[in-house]
Amino acid sequence: MNSYDAIVIGGGIQGCSVAYNLADNGLKVLVLEKDYCGRHASGVNAGGVRRLGRDLRELELSDFSMKEYWHKLDSFLDEDCEYEKVPQIKIAMDEEALEFSKNRVEQVKAMGFEHEQLIDTSTLKNFVPDVSDKALGAILVEDDGHANPFKTTVAIKHKAIKYGVSIREGEKVLDIKGDDKTSWKVTTDKDVFNAKYIINCAGAWGDKIAKMFGEDVPFEAVCLLLSITSKIDLFLKPVIGFQRRALSLKQFSNGSLMIGGAFKGSLNLETNETIVDFTQIARNVSNATELFPKLKNAKIVRSWGGIEAICEDKIPIISKSSKYETVIHNFGYSAHGFQPAFGSGKIVSQMLLDQKLSINNVDEFRINRFV
Ligand SMILES: Cc1cc2nc3c(=O)[nH]c(=O)nc-3n(C[C@H](O)[C@H](O)[C@H](O)COP(=O)(O)OP(=O)(O)OC[C@H]3O[C@@H](n4cnc5c(N)ncnc54)[C@H](O)[C@@H]3O)c2cc1C
Repeated sequence: MNSYDAIVIGGGIQGCSVAYNLADNGLKVLVLEKDYCGRHASGVNAGGVRRLGRDLRELELSDFSMKEYWHKLDSFLDEDCEYEKVPQIKIAMDEEALEFSKNRVEQVKAMGFEHEQLIDTSTLKNFVPDVSDKALGAILVEDDGHANPFKTTVAIKHKAIKYGVSIREGEKVLDIKGDDKTSWKVTTDKDVFNAKYIINCAGAWGDKIAKMFGEDVPFEAVCLLLSITSKIDLFLKPVIGFQRRALSLKQFSNGSLMIGGAFKGSLNLETNETIVDFTQIARNVSNATELFPKLKNAKIVRSWGGIEAICEDKIPIISKSSKYETVIHNFGYSAHGFQPAFGSGKIVSQMLLDQKLSINNVDEFRINRFV
């Protein structure tokens, strides 16, 4: 009863997406999640569905995910995830940021992607009339968007279950023994399972699972902060970022705003505790009010932290193990792993089953760059 073709460790959006894709290929799949699906980064992030400003090394994956999944979400997921296709805009407030933006758009175009465009201040004002008069221009992506991260993670979890995936929540993987020739034996705090394949989707705990296979990656788990304001008049449809400075800002239809930008609190990985640092929140809010002076009247009503996996070079590991053909690592999304998750689920299953990959640029994500 406890034998599976594949065991996925971690029930975040990555693990659920991988599990669905493997089940769609006919595999008997088990997801082991130590808390509950969406409890960590996948369920508490900013919900940014953006290609704007993506690391160039992950642009192809992000674009694949956007065009094949997000832009066709109604036919992919059966549940409402509050996904909205809206512009994402990154604003330059000084000459250096403007120059950086121009170069960035050229680089993206040179790679064959057309989604980013440079806009001047008058076009910017058409999208965001309340922006500070000090804004010099921006990069615009018209068909990015945002979604509710928890609902999205639960929707892909439900899709995985519909395709036959078993999910055991509240069950922590403690040990893995085996090799490519025999099956893997996975011991949790409740049971023992066997599988031919293991997929490590353990997010900020991914390095601990990698170590069980003798692979040591340079890695940090961080607590990223987000805040919600009181409701104010609707004035902002696009999602806003600040070029060369830390900010993400969006307004919900009820008038409240979400403010983030990778400011950090502290955390305890053993207890899941995250602690908000209000000096960081103050810096975050000050970036927001610099761009939109009218926000000075809004109040912060709630702040929280989410635990995220940061690789040393700020892009994920999506790779067969350096030691075992039957093990795949898929973690370390470094604060941008929500949007690409549907695409990476597909790529990981293709990798595992030695199928032709839907994208070309995967070498950058190999674990061999570290071990
Ligand atoms: C505040 C914040 C804002 C963000 N904003 C955005 C954004 O706007 N857009 C974007 O694209 N990305 C964003 N991100 C990043 C994104 O949320 C993550 O990169 C993504 O959710 C990672 O998904 P995951 O499934 O790899 O990790 P997780 O969601 O962390 O899932 C990993 C799971 O593995 C489980 N696990 C770990 N160890 C074990 C074990 N031993 N046994 C069993 N289970 C285990 C954990 O409990 C966890 O549930 C943000 C992140 C944060 C924190």
